[in-house]
Amino acid sequence: MATALLAVDVQVDFCEGGSLAVHGGAEVARRLTSHLRRTKRDYALVVASRDWHVDPGAHFAAEPDYRDSWPVHCVAGEHGSDFHAAFDADLVDVIVSKGERAAAYSAFEGHTGDGRALADLLADAAVTELDVAGIATDYCVRASALDAVRAGFDVRLLGDLVAGVAPDTSSAALEELRAAGVEIVEVGC
Ligand SMILES: [Zn+2]
Repeated sequence: MATALLAVDVQVDFCEGGSLAVHGGAEVARRLTSHLRRTKRDYALVVASRDWHVDPGAHFAAEPDYRDSWPVHCVAGEHGSDFHAAFDADLVDVIVSKGERAAAYSAFEGHTGDGRALADLLADAAVTELDVAGIATDYCVRASALDAVRAGFDVRLLGDLVAGVAPDTSSAALEELRAAGVEIVEVGC
C-alpha cells in the first residue's frame, strides 16, 4: 500500500500579491515545504499540480464573478504561474499541468509534460492512498479530492495545509468532502 501527496496549485497568482490571491496561500506554501521535509520519505510519489492557462476561454473575464469566471491568472510560462517561492519544488517528483484551453479545477484533468494523466501516474506507483493539500480549498482542492475519491483512492485532506477563496464556500467544500468519505486531518505544521 503506497501513499502519494498531491499539492494543488501552490502558485504565485494564488498567493498574497498574486492576481487571484487567496488569503493564507503563502502560509500554505511554507507549511507544505515544512511537511514535505519531514515526511517526504513516507510518500511513494509527490505530485504538484499547476493551473497552466494559454487560452482558457470564459474562465478569464474582465468582470469576473469569482465563481465561474476569474481575473487573468497563471498564464503558462509567466511569473504568476510559477510555484510560490516558499514552496520547495525540489521536493516534487512530478508536475501535472491543467487548464490550457478551458477551466480545469481538478488535477485529474491535468497531464505531465509527456502527456501522462495523474490517475496513470498514481497507478504506476501502486498508490492507493492520496494526501491532498494546496489552494484553493473551495475550488481546485475540492475538485481534485472528489475526483480522487471517484477514482477509488483513500483520500485524506491535510486540513492545515489548505487555503480557500471564501469562508462559506470553503466550509461547504469541507462538508462535501467529509460526506464523500474524505478524512480531514491536521499535520501540525
Ligand atoms: Zn484557472
